[in-house]
Amino acid sequence: MNGATTSGELRAHNRVRLLRAVHDCGATRTRSQLTRDLRLARGTASVLVAGLVENELLHEEPAPEHGRGRPTLVPGPHPRGPLALAVDVREDAWELAACELGGRATVLAVRPHDGTPEDALGSLGGAIAAEQERLGHRVIGVGVALAGPVRHGGLVDIAHLSWRSVDVPHLLGLAPPAPGAAEGGVPVVVGNDTAFAAVAEARRGRLQGVPVGLHLHVDFDLGGVLVVDGRPLGGASGTGAEFGHMPLTGGDRTCMCGAIGCWGMDVGANALLRHVGLAAGGGRGREQAEHVLATSEEAVTANARALGCGIAALVNAHDPEAVTLSGHGVELYERAGDTLMAACEPGLMAIRREHPPRIEGSALGWRGSLLGAMESVFDAFLTPEGLDRWRANLSDQARDTPDRRNVMNSTFQGESPP
Ligand SMILES: [Zn+2]
Repeated sequence: MNGATTSGELRAHNRVRLLRAVHDCGATRTRSQLTRDLRLARGTASVLVAGLVENELLHEEPAPEHGRGRPTLVPGPHPRGPLALAVDVREDAWELAACELGGRATVLAVRPHDGTPEDALGSLGGAIAAEQERLGHRVIGVGVALAGPVRHGGLVDIAHLSWRSVDVPHLLGLAPPAPGAAEGGVPVVVGNDTAFAAVAEARRGRLQGVPVGLHLHVDFDLGGVLVVDGRPLGGASGTGAEFGHMPLTGGDRTCMCGAIGCWGMDVGANALLRHVGLAAGGGRGREQAEHVLATSEEAVTANARALGCGIAALVNAHDPEAVTLSGHGVELYERAGDTLMAACEPGLMAIRREHPPRIEGSALGWRGSLLGAMESVFDAFLTPEGLDRWRANLSDQARDTPDRRNVMNSTFQGESPP
């Protein structure tokens, strides 16, 4: 390796570090803070930032408040910079958002679906293709969160919707090109909604800096995953941590997954509906479930008790420092936190009772799965190879249609961060 290669590699490495730091802090730190954090020389940082501005990766704005002297600049996303398309496919609707470097998400579309793979993913594939056409080279990848275990990078099973081995990239029209075919398209990352919510919680929420945490996501049923050093433990095939399908509460109902007495039968929108005698399943009844959650003390208490009981079992097994709850888990904790804790405590081993983990609602609420899908796209992009691809596409773009590059500016105006 000669000197030129080494310094080129060092520059590429520092470009990635700087963009990663801007992204992870939510584009809130000033250039001088970042320079200190990354132990860069001031001149090196200036050259790096100038290059990244020229490549339409960064844009600098004066800090909102500063003392005397030269204004302090805050590096943030370039107005024509990279966008991750992130999708949360829930059991009754999907939400599609464009996310900038720094993590700001702008919702582009929300659409209900009938619960079949063809309707849910067909309509979504059309929407993604339209956004790719509109945004052109700015789309650096697509992250898709789904409410079931995901195998082999894209085969999903959702028991409640009777989805078995559904090939998500294929139905979205985003399947990777056949071996030997010309390179095309953008990277697609398909993942489990709870695992994505856990990633977001570890990056931007209440599991930041937590070495071992437990994250539980409550929607129609309940999903959970153990998070170690910021990463969800996915198991050998990526389908591990199906805590919702463990018999933790002594129930005897048969679950759609095929097992009997699953914890997820007792927590979530389906359980709330069942408790008041309404039909449950198939991803239907979200509004009624929200009504039950807001009005039926009894149904909420039963849900919170089951949630606390199962948490105790998982705390005994895994010894997490913190337990975070997203989706309906936030409301259950707010409405019946005392009941939840009262059900949890007796289930804890004596040695766990002395220092129980903190249990709290997610800082990100319902947006965790979407933001985790976004993180998976930026993880692939914020690499020397990802940035090389961006720069190559940018020079192609300069010869292409210049008016397309400004399409997004007006869309973002007036949008607030999640
Ligand atoms: Zn089950």
